[in-house]
Amino acid sequence: MPVEYQFTEEVNKSFDRAAAYVDADPTLLAQVKRNNSLYHLSFPLRRDDGSIEVIEAWRAEHSQHRTPTKGGFRFSPNVNADEVMALAALMTYKCAVVNVPFGGAKGGVRVDTRKYSEAELERITRRFTFELWRKHFIGPAIDVPAPDMGTGPREMAWVADTYAALSGTELNASACVTGKPVSQGGVAGRNEATGRGVMYGLREACNVPEDMRRLGLDPGLDGKRFVIQGLGNVGYHAATFMIENGAVLVGVGEIRGGIASPKGIDLEALMQYRRETGTVLGFPGAEDLPTSIAALELDCDLLVPAALENQITMENAPRIKAKIIGEAANGPTTDDADQFLRGRGTLIVPDIYLNAGGVTVSYFEWLKNLQHVSFGRMEKRFDQSAYRRLLQAIEGATTKVFSMDENVSLTRGADELDIVNSGLEETMAFAYRQIRQTCEQREGLDLRTAAMIRAIDKVVVTYEELGIFP
Ligand code: NAD
Repeated sequence: MPVEYQFTEEVNKSFDRAAAYVDADPTLLAQVKRNNSLYHLSFPLRRDDGSIEVIEAWRAEHSQHRTPTKGGFRFSPNVNADEVMALAALMTYKCAVVNVPFGGAKGGVRVDTRKYSEAELERITRRFTFELWRKHFIGPAIDVPAPDMGTGPREMAWVADTYAALSGTELNASACVTGKPVSQGGVAGRNEATGRGVMYGLREACNVPEDMRRLGLDPGLDGKRFVIQGLGNVGYHAATFMIENGAVLVGVGEIRGGIASPKGIDLEALMQYRRETGTVLGFPGAEDLPTSIAALELDCDLLVPAALENQITMENAPRIKAKIIGEAANGPTTDDADQFLRGRGTLIVPDIYLNAGGVTVSYFEWLKNLQHVSFGRMEKRFDQSAYRRLLQAIEGATTKVFSMDENVSLTRGADELDIVNSGLEETMAFAYRQIRQTCEQREGLDLRTAAMIRAIDKVVVTYEELGIFP
């Protein structure tokens, strides 16, 4: 009999393990762990053929220790209350790990997006937004959604437009949702931010010489053979940036099957092939795998699950060969598999740290919407003139004459994308150092428990400082 995994229970097991290290009132810890609010709703959808269907949806706000709460909208046929609450809890811990001042939330609509037209998906998104607005479950200061599985910039634009229409003259209305297209108040770099953050996080992990020595690997991403599960927003961008940094893609697991090629897979050619055929199977030069999940068991240095939860379980963990697992998806490893793999020495870079790039850049987008000006607009020209004067001063005081190329590159002022990417890189690098330091303070502590200890500590401090109202 396959084991049934309850997602919230899995998240709570890692919470409990970390909470044992946190010096706080056990009742306060129980409060930190609990989901604060759950809204379960049904609404009718008029389909294109005139028939009516009932749509089920959820929004969980796990913790209001900081507001607004923040977390994605997932459109998937498997969404349920347990999944949404588990994902909302992960959002609370994730925001705390990367110092993003939000509580955690998550929303889900139970639909298989492949079975609905674009017009139907728009009606679903707009009606869901309206229902949340009616109950005060959305707003720039209340709860701010973002993309997740099955949604993207298009859906976020519909959310923003619906909220703006309902809220009338609210000046900050566009900050009610993040992950919008840049032309609709989004921020440059948000679409690829989670995947870029995954690369920064794995680069940090691979740059710790003693950890790589223990695994028998060379430091750095360069030359690392990796397998990815899920070539969606997170998986595709993570793979792109990993390849840019010298890693070699040797396997892919997708919804309809997997492929492997020890010599390396051309990612862009594969994406083009999938667009044309609807599958990764049959990709020239690669071997088809019997099942999609078989990709997780391929011979590689680094395994990046980037699709959905409960993929690495006790059923397949004993056959996993990767020495490093980078959790780009939320909750891809069950607690028992996590313990088993750690016991075997696998380095697991946990979801609550590794995929936090998305919420980090969502935070930047929210700030941009509140300040009503894009990053870099006010200072770019000023910085360029200051750098130019500096170069001229150097040329005046020395025999050095800067070439045209040097002049251009050394005097360039930062634009929005530069600022966003540098803020993201700093956030991921700083958080990794903090997590690693916590590991060093306690013999044998793994990265997930260390990240969770840091998260719980921060939430507990906020509760203690606020006191209990009334
Ligand atoms: P997405 O919908 O863009 O992509 C998901 C991909 O996984 C698709 O290519 C889909 O075909 C594939 N997939 C689905 N089921 C699969 C299966 N059983 N086996 C193999 N492949 C399968 O979703 P996304 O936004 O990339 O999210 C992926 C994961 O990352 C989720 O766990 C999500 O919660 C997490 N996440 C997303 C973001 C974000 O900014 N989008 C941020 C943080 C975490």
